Amino acid sequence: MTLPLNPAWRDEFAARLLAWGSGQRGHLPWRAAADDGRRDPYRVWVAEIMLQQTGVTTVGPYYDRFLARFPTVATLAAAPLDDVLKAWEGLGYYARARHLHRAAQIVVAEHGGRVPSDAHALARLPGIGRYTLGAILSIAFGQPAPILDGNVRRVLARVFAITDNVRAPATERRLWALSEALVPADAPGAFNEALMDLGATICIAARPRCLACPVMSLCQGRAMGIQDALPTRPPRRQTPHYDVTAGVIWRGDEFLVAQRPLDKMLGGLWEFPGGKCDPGETLADCLRRELREELAIEVAVGDAVTVVRHAYTHFRITLHAFHGRIVSGEPRAVEVAAFAWTTLADVDRYAMAVTDQRILAALRRR
Ligand code: SF4
Repeated sequence: MTLPLNPAWRDEFAARLLAWGSGQRGHLPWRAAADDGRRDPYRVWVAEIMLQQTGVTTVGPYYDRFLARFPTVATLAAAPLDDVLKAWEGLGYYARARHLHRAAQIVVAEHGGRVPSDAHALARLPGIGRYTLGAILSIAFGQPAPILDGNVRRVLARVFAITDNVRAPATERRLWALSEALVPADAPGAFNEALMDLGATICIAARPRCLACPVMSLCQGRAMGIQDALPTRPPRRQTPHYDVTAGVIWRGDEFLVAQRPLDKMLGGLWEFPGGKCDPGETLADCLRRELREELAIEVAVGDAVTVVRHAYTHFRITLHAFHGRIVSGEPRAVEVAAFAWTTLADVDRYAMAVTDQRILAALRRR
């Protein structure tokens, strides 16, 4: 779908946004250009993947550490997945790290270690969806490719006073078409970055700062006084809640940790073994069953360690952690990728999700 925009209007929109954008957030580490004024596609790629579901402030230190540890595509491709997950620990949405790692291996094997500038080749890499594709093509390679993420969706819905549900496929197509029609051929990267920045700092979700907005005079939503009500979203569904158990299974000073299967949520991360309770099951029964299924061991469930509450995108959990010990059987990796005995002094070399980090913190407090 292409949308005709008045060329004079479009040029003014781009000019205003670019003039404003040139003064914004140049200090961000992934915005630094090389001596020749170009941006390293690998750095742009890593930054865009990290920024997908995580805010700028959180990403900053992670980005610096990640680039120091894996300065090139080749170093990332050659690293064990465990090291990559460890560098990602705490950022969440770990599929991003697994995809980035796998994609780096493909770039080395099929593209000589150079991030491809061809849209089809880039789009075939794991973890590169339409938004990331547009960001890399425009920012790293100067190609007029569109972007559409939550921030840009909000800005465009307001500028064009789109009152339809922005998650509906037809509206989504229209927003992509608008983004494509807006991006100027002579400065696509700077324009897209300015559009993202506008959404992140001025055209914010609650109470947009219209008086500070460079495109206020062009904004239909503002002219109609409906900007606060946009974008229109479907009503929120209640997220389900699950009780989950985890066992700190002791053997002297050591305890068991298990690696989650790679194809599951949080795949490749290490955890205190356990899992989701069935309806009507007691917490102790749940833990005993999970350890039987995952590691082929029978355990005695002891005192509680801690209770951790956590919200994921589509559900919430209450995680009940217990001390325990094996009463029969030797651990085998039945429904886990691997297991290990470790100690509180040594456990930090295993990448763990935030919920298991909180169990660790409770153990250390004792
Ligand atoms: S004028 Fe207000 S609503 Fe319109 S784009 Fe700017 S900040 Fe957003």
